[in-house]
Amino acid sequence: MVSQRSEWHVPSSNIAQSAHNPIRQIVDKLKLDPQATKSFISLSVGDPTVFGNFNIDPSANEAVIRQLHTYKANGYGPAHGTVEAREAVAKMVNTPEAPVTANDILLANGCSGALDLCVNVLGNPGQNILLPRPGFSLYGSLAAIRSLETKYYNLLPEENWQIDLAHMESLIDENTCAILVNNPSNPCGSVYSREHLQGILQVAAKHHVPIIADEIYCDLVFKGNTFYSMASLTTEVPILSVGGLAKKWLVPGWRIGWIVVHDRNGIFDQVREGLLNLSQVILGPNSVIQAALPDILHETPQKFYDDTIEQLEKNTKLSMDAVSKIPGLNPVQPQGAMYMMVGIDVNKFKDISSDVDFSQKLLAEESVLCLPGECFTYPNYIRIVITPTVDRLEEAYKRMAEFCARHLK
Ligand SMILES: *Cc1c(COP(=O)(O)O)cnc(C)c1O
Repeated sequence: MVSQRSEWHVPSSNIAQSAHNPIRQIVDKLKLDPQATKSFISLSVGDPTVFGNFNIDPSANEAVIRQLHTYKANGYGPAHGTVEAREAVAKMVNTPEAPVTANDILLANGCSGALDLCVNVLGNPGQNILLPRPGFSLYGSLAAIRSLETKYYNLLPEENWQIDLAHMESLIDENTCAILVNNPSNPCGSVYSREHLQGILQVAAKHHVPIIADEIYCDLVFKGNTFYSMASLTTEVPILSVGGLAKKWLVPGWRIGWIVVHDRNGIFDQVREGLLNLSQVILGPNSVIQAALPDILHETPQKFYDDTIEQLEKNTKLSMDAVSKIPGLNPVQPQGAMYMMVGIDVNKFKDISSDVDFSQKLLAEESVLCLPGECFTYPNYIRIVITPTVDRLEEAYKRMAEFCARHLK
């Protein structure tokens, strides 16, 4: 057949057109005043490495360098990760309550890559997926390119961001492919109790819906809180738990994530095979870091983890103390992770109409950037990243206080 095209017309695909990153879309609209004299302080990027105060343990660097010098970690490995790397992850997450082996692990390109595989393996176009509100924006973006309908279940700020379980249950129908649960949470900094996680599992069990558990902030919890993996609390509900090096080991750029398949009853047999098929398309993550993974996960000294949490907790206390004194702002106490959500009482301000407006004016007038809640489908809040250095945080909160005082009614 002869082509009938008489001129150039090359549109982007439907998938490309449906791809979006709400954070970029909103942040690109926020403009720093080019005349600004104040130094720019970003409380917006969920990357703990940008201020130089949170660094991976030197032993992990040494492990990577050793692997480079072997010349044995430069080739293609198995698509879902080398046995050694998968064994290392299995050894770390294995518990008597939720036993796993290397066969239950797939490595991926970051935790985002792991989430992409999970959404792909469980959802067909036209089905729906339950997501937290507020929640990490990647979930909605992944659903959108799969043509999955997104249904957002409410988190309750007055109950430490626990899930409104009745609301979540009301969203489930025969087309629900999965419930995504993020604990500890980005953007909330919440850590769920054992009882609450059991409540979520009961809903999933009742309606036979599998869970995707984003547990990338596992163990990053403050004094008085305990992290429970969802899989350790059920023998019934099949769970894909995802994690990675990005946050707990402070190396988001190393792009290593993993999926742990928890399935005691053979419900995920097809899903396991599907995950392997999908992982063959783009081979697994970077070979050098994979080769160093056993040392990174098992030889990093405990002090590194303790110091990270101590520093996060100190910054959280400083942030709560400073922000709770600012009229018009209502911070919610974080229990873990690296974030704090702050309610904006727009009625108390004379000329601030929304969270986006707040972020915009704060950036223009004070050169301080916080993400508006809109980025997490949650208006009238802003998210503060609490990983900057103490002096930067103190300066940012001083400017925020002056800004609010100036705009109060
Ligand atoms: C940072 C983050 C991820 C992504 O991790 P990468 O390994 O960098 O892809 C996934 N989920 C949540 C909740 C995060 O905050």
